[in-house]
Amino acid sequence: MFVCPRCGKRYPAQEPHWRCTCGSYLNWERPARFDRDSIVLSDYSIWRYRHVLPLAPGVEPVSLGEGWTPLVPVDWHGCKIFFKLDYLCPSGSFKDRGTAVLVSQLKAWGIEKVVEDSSGNAGASLATYAARAGIDCTIYVPATASRGKLVQIALAGARLVRVPGSREDTTRAVLKAAETTFYASHNFSPLFVEGVKTLALELAEQLGWEAPERIIIPVGNGSLALGLAAGFRLLKDAGLVNRMPRLIAVQSAACAPLAAAFAAGRDEPVAVAKEQTIAEGIASMSPPRGRDVLSAVRASGGSFIAVAEEEIITALAELAACGLYVEPTSAAAAAALTKLAAEGDIRPGERVVAVLTGSGLKATDKLLELFADKLPL
Ligand SMILES: *Cc1c(COP(=O)(O)O)cnc(C)c1O
Ligand SMILES: [Zn+2]
Repeated sequence: MFVCPRCGKRYPAQEPHWRCTCGSYLNWERPARFDRDSIVLSDYSIWRYRHVLPLAPGVEPVSLGEGWTPLVPVDWHGCKIFFKLDYLCPSGSFKDRGTAVLVSQLKAWGIEKVVEDSSGNAGASLATYAARAGIDCTIYVPATASRGKLVQIALAGARLVRVPGSREDTTRAVLKAAETTFYASHNFSPLFVEGVKTLALELAEQLGWEAPERIIIPVGNGSLALGLAAGFRLLKDAGLVNRMPRLIAVQSAACAPLAAAFAAGRDEPVAVAKEQTIAEGIASMSPPRGRDVLSAVRASGGSFIAVAEEEIITALAELAACGLYVEPTSAAAAAALTKLAAEGDIRPGERVVAVLTGSGLKATDKLLELFADKLPL
């Protein structure tokens, strides 16, 4: 059942909807109960947790083997922590967890054509899974979007529509298209976050059915925060973990509407001016689920950290030197980790996980620019 958090309207899961008639995003009402015996042990992907995904039993997964990514112990600035290598998902970002679930449902609904607005990983992920499902896909991007990010989308066979003007103009254009074509929005549909919650289940299982004390995640629209909160709630309700991890949500200081709201004790994202940031995957000025994200982070006992551009670049180079080649957005999480380590905030023996969300191979053009004068190229 889809439920509108604003007006309370409910929609049966058999009907295709991407948002409420009142304009709000939708939530998924969770009757699911996690059961360890229902894990499909032979399936090394998100689908091993199929029994808690919001899909009817007959729905055929559209899958490329997403999920079950490595959890690697690393010594980071003197602290023993874990990195979760979600950038190893098929399209090169964690977004595949959500997209696989969303596209599986779209296919089951008989949707043949979708639109989406994203010049980044969400667009690449949707184009990838639409190709796998045989769904016709059009991605709206700002005319100024960097070409590096568009190659993957275009080669997957998606149509690109370049919209002149601001990012907001792109959103207006896709909403117009959504009047006649299904909008496979990873922000409005609840199916995306439901897929991301497999990250929590995986972490707990990989740690021998324990929750980490803290999880550090980059946050733009907040699907990782919401997915982790939902996943660990399932595990706690099932008695499989005895605590909810504290969520440490990381934003770029150049675009930090949620970090600013958290610092000011507010319930809603604060209006901010967006400055240029290399962490483009978390540069969301007005996250639609911002209120829920703030409340999930607060309820976990966690906090927000804003990191500067130089801190992100330094962390990216240090990660690469450990063999972890990620894009700048992902390096924001490691930059926050550096801050915590420097402040002596990480206790010996504390289990801390930082999620590395996107591959460095996506950002070759950006990395060439960033490191041009430091490399023998
Ligand atoms: C989308 C994205 C994020 C942020 O996810 P949100 O759901 O917007 O918070 C973080 N890292 C990478 C690499 C991304 O593509
Ligand atoms: Zn509504």
